[in-house]
Amino acid sequence: MRLNPTHSPKRKSWVESANVEGCEFPIQNLPFGVFRRKGTDEAPRGGVAIGDVIVDVAAFARAARLRGAARVAAQACAGPTLNPLLELGSAHWSALRQALSRALAMGETGWEQRKAKLAEFLVPMNEAELRLPVAIGDYTDFYTSVFHATNIGRMFRPDNPLMPNYKWVPIGYHGRASSVVVSGTPVARPRGQTKAPDAVAPSFGPCRRLDYEVELGFVVGSGNRLGDSIPIASALDHVFGVVLLNDWSARDIQAWEYQPLGPFLAKSFATTISPWIVTMEALEPYRVPAFKRAEGDPAPLPHLLDASDQAEGGFSIEVEMWLRSARMREAGQPAHRLSLGNYASCYWTLAQTVAHHASNGCNLRPGDLLGSGTISGPEPGSQGALIEITEGGRKPVDLPGGEARTFIEDGDEIVQRGRCARDGYATIGFGEAAGLVLPAK
Ligand code: CA
Repeated sequence: MRLNPTHSPKRKSWVESANVEGCEFPIQNLPFGVFRRKGTDEAPRGGVAIGDVIVDVAAFARAARLRGAARVAAQACAGPTLNPLLELGSAHWSALRQALSRALAMGETGWEQRKAKLAEFLVPMNEAELRLPVAIGDYTDFYTSVFHATNIGRMFRPDNPLMPNYKWVPIGYHGRASSVVVSGTPVARPRGQTKAPDAVAPSFGPCRRLDYEVELGFVVGSGNRLGDSIPIASALDHVFGVVLLNDWSARDIQAWEYQPLGPFLAKSFATTISPWIVTMEALEPYRVPAFKRAEGDPAPLPHLLDASDQAEGGFSIEVEMWLRSARMREAGQPAHRLSLGNYASCYWTLAQTVAHHASNGCNLRPGDLLGSGTISGPEPGSQGALIEITEGGRKPVDLPGGEARTFIEDGDEIVQRGRCARDGYATIGFGEAAGLVLPAK
């Protein structure tokens, strides 16, 4: 762990809502996003969430007279995407985080004057609309949970659920960047080609087995040149931060189209991410050892093996999925939690996936998005997709109010949440990645 005063659980902010027990955005978090005031034609710009407000970063930094790398980094947040900030690299990100933390802290010399001067550069979150925080050039989705891979594999190959390559190579595929949307964007049920096992020919129509996948999305910061690789020891320096990611999945379309080249239209109709990028620096206190491989599993090849990564390359990040049907909303019932998992249960670390991705000379670029793959753990209740929870649609989930689900129905709102907690440190949250499913167009 590389800790500094920004991680101190004792640090409080003069933004009082940030100090309230249970707040997702205490001063130890400081996630980055892009916002503008609702109902205005203001230019979208970079912001940092704290408590129930958004720091208008570039304007705040000018008024707070930030200097040096922090000032340069803050100015890179003035535009409609955070890509210019991502390009600057980890020293600049860290300088900005530390400067913002000091300027927002209560109790440091001059804090009352700073509060009086800087409060006008805070925008109430409920008056803001949040945008996609980065321009995503490429989106890659991995498959790092061995529990998910085994559960899914068992449905297709009961005798041989896990493919022989799984424990050697972090499996992934290239996804679609253009349809990545920010939380709150409705998702229309996709249409596509499907074929029931007993049908003689496929047909085209609305998906009947619509699912979600609970994932995390890693936002690439500084990239690598085409032809160069990224050594595993420095892989995390290339990652800016983490968002919640729901990889919406049309299982019936997927089952028919996926061989031999993998997922295509079953995935590319929408991917929802949360608007706030929690930085890798904010996640330092929640590092854990890499997933412990079972006795008899192969060791990773040398380019995917690093002592420091094995010792603390995992991250303990809880992820949850919630469902609220139209009927539950009408009855005033709260959302129902479908699962609770943890990224620490994934077989491959983030550094391993980054090093693997660039190991052939493929260039990662600022704003690229890397999905973890569905996060499922070994425990009941930790499965990150309905196809696993319902065992392929055979065991429906009961909802409060008498409904049941095998897959998602029109009018369902699917809400992902996440948090990091550790004794002796602040608890930080990720906000949410939510999407309301609309009927097929
Ligand atoms: Ca996925």
